[in-house]
Amino acid sequence: MALEDSANLVEYFRSQLEPSLALLKKLVELESYSFDKPGVDGLTGFLADEFSVRGASVEVMEHPVRGNALKATWNDASAEPPVLVLGHLDTVWPPGTLRSRPFKVEEGKAYGPGVFDMKSGILICLLACQAFQERRIDPGKGVIFLFTADEEIGTETGLSRLKLVATSCRAVLCLEPPLPGGKVKTFRKGVGEFRIRVTGVAAHAGADHEKGANAILELSKLVLQLQALTDYQRGVTVNVGKIRGGSAVNVVPADAEAEVDFRVSTVSDGDRLEQRVRGLRASDPRCAVLVEGGLRRPPLERTPAVVELYQKARGVAFSLGLDLGEGGTGGASDGSFTAAWGIPTLDGLGVEGDGAHALHEHILVDDIPRRAALLARLTQTLPPIQTVTLADARKGTT
Ligand SMILES: [Zn+2]
Repeated sequence: MALEDSANLVEYFRSQLEPSLALLKKLVELESYSFDKPGVDGLTGFLADEFSVRGASVEVMEHPVRGNALKATWNDASAEPPVLVLGHLDTVWPPGTLRSRPFKVEEGKAYGPGVFDMKSGILICLLACQAFQERRIDPGKGVIFLFTADEEIGTETGLSRLKLVATSCRAVLCLEPPLPGGKVKTFRKGVGEFRIRVTGVAAHAGADHEKGANAILELSKLVLQLQALTDYQRGVTVNVGKIRGGSAVNVVPADAEAEVDFRVSTVSDGDRLEQRVRGLRASDPRCAVLVEGGLRRPPLERTPAVVELYQKARGVAFSLGLDLGEGGTGGASDGSFTAAWGIPTLDGLGVEGDGAHALHEHILVDDIPRRAALLARLTQTLPPIQTVTLADARKGTT
């Protein structure tokens, strides 16, 4: 079927606003804290039914410890490379948060734990699927809705499954919250952590001071070197966030330890930083330095393929009366992985709002119909985009 007139599609989603809010309330009330398996599984089960009644084929991907993930596929018989619509089920809010912050709609804003990050993103996935079914909108290809269960704690489970699904897809549309003003994210920093351990030689602080090798002193010197690796211009930051060491005030400390967060804009900056940190040495030869950790999530680089996808989305948004801006952020998401695997990824396609991970978390109710229409139309109009390696993408060969 031909593309549905865009204005009609927004109108359709507007006519669905009341049941949509009821559905959003249900999604928020199914609390799904990353560490609460029964909570996340409850949401997974609910969504499996909701996608199923909207005509998608559903697969619950079980996990023994963390929550179960969910894959719902529209039109899985299509031979065309599918589009991956990516989201996560979990929130940063422990069970019971709802008691102090129940779901409510006030002055055009919907509040509640996880409503912005990203229950409303999940909602527009259901709405898009509903439009495929009710309005007979044919995306002309498979659309895979994939929801990971522990994104907020680093996606420790399901990453290999995500890779398997994503690498067969022509593009990834990620439902993370947009930037202020509804801007999508065409760039994200990579995130990593190091643990730096220094071991020295313990000695009596009075009787044998000179026999001791002070691990705290050595670590302090390393802290200065670590912080100096920050380069704002290149988008590289290093933050020594935690430090501890020693056993008693009258003992030359034999151990000290620091935890370090770092962010980089490019994979090569990440490699370079990692090399520098692993090359850190103590100035006192009696002290040893042990470095653990590294890049946990790669950066989402603004490659030509990402820009092309953004331009496409911008055109579609324009037909919906939406001026879709773009921007970047220092935080990472599952979209960072798919981008690093070389699949064109556009992030921040969720509903506009504010306060992710904060007490004033909310979304703008008016934005639901537009964003649902944008998602549905994007899946429909996305052309085949050649999947490329990240190295190719950087060379600008897309
Ligand atoms: Zn999120």
